[in-house]
Amino acid sequence: MQSVCIKNNRSRDSLTYGELQENTDKSTEVKVKISSCFLNRLDIFTIMGVKGIELDLTKLHILAEDFAEKVVEVEQKITDKKIRDRVLVNPGLICSKCENCLKDMTELCSNPGSN
Ligand SMILES: [Zn+2]
Repeated sequence: MQSVCIKNNRSRDSLTYGELQENTDKSTEVKVKISSCFLNRLDIFTIMGVKGIELDLTKLHILAEDFAEKVVEVEQKITDKKIRDRVLVNPGLICSKCENCLKDMTELCSNPGSN
């Protein structure tokens, strides 16, 4: 899997591009083939450590945001998706518990990344 990643450093110089091993040990996921995506302002905020999207960068973090493509693999526990379904991926992590999440305003989650 080709990706742009950042780890252990908050500078543009720390961005790396290359082959990354796929994580295939989760039985509750689908695999989506992405033909293209882009970096946007949220990736810049992540690199800068802006409040609300401060991440633990001791772990590898794959950059890039929303994209839509087709499902190419479906794990057995998934029942609502099938191969060739078109899906929209929003990789943001929300808490699903705060006032904004409960009002379906997840972009304003008070505890992003806490799920
Ligand atoms: Zn929330």
